[in-house]
Amino acid sequence: MTNIVLFGPPGSGKGTQSAILKKKYGLVHISTGDVFRGLDPESELAKLAKSYSDKGNLVPDEITIEILESEVAKYPDAKGVIYDGFPRTSAQAAALDKFLTSKGTSVTCMLALDVQEDVLRERLKGRAIDSGRPDDADPAVIQNRIDVYNNQTAPVADFYKAQGKYIEINGIGSIEEISQRLIDALEAATA
Ligand code: AMP
Repeated sequence: MTNIVLFGPPGSGKGTQSAILKKKYGLVHISTGDVFRGLDPESELAKLAKSYSDKGNLVPDEITIEILESEVAKYPDAKGVIYDGFPRTSAQAAALDKFLTSKGTSVTCMLALDVQEDVLRERLKGRAIDSGRPDDADPAVIQNRIDVYNNQTAPVADFYKAQGKYIEINGIGSIEEISQRLIDALEAATA
């Protein structure tokens, strides 16, 4: 089973590139952000998640890990999964390892998209026009998401570096150029 952690700051292209890899390799794509946004808006869980995401803060680990595990359980026959936006904390990374081990599998590699902050801010501002996401519309929330990434999420890379599974990908260029870099890295990692 191929388990790819597609990593990178908000606006680095994880969603776009996940869709391409999903189609090319027939993988399941799980974005915890999409799962939170897809919850019944009237449910207590959705309201709780939104109280964090509207400010650009992380939803607590316990809730996020549970949501992730129940999402994975929906695809018992998956030949592989792209994890997009998860894990975002070291505790989530440890939980994912434990969860995959219990299923007799493991993370194949972390593909980390590298994009500088000024480019991220511009991309997110552009995305706000058509994404309809409140967390894309407010520059203060965008900055908080970047800060949360730097403080809480970036250290997750060390978790995979220690396992020799970290692969950095230049996330600047055309969508096709970046997907080709990801494909080349993935094929080298699984050869
Ligand atoms: P995203 O669509 O990945 O940008 O996620 C949107 C928002 O959902 C984030 O700003 C968080 O509030 C929440 N979220 C998504 N994934 C996670 C995660 N792995 N851990 C905690 N919060 C998350």
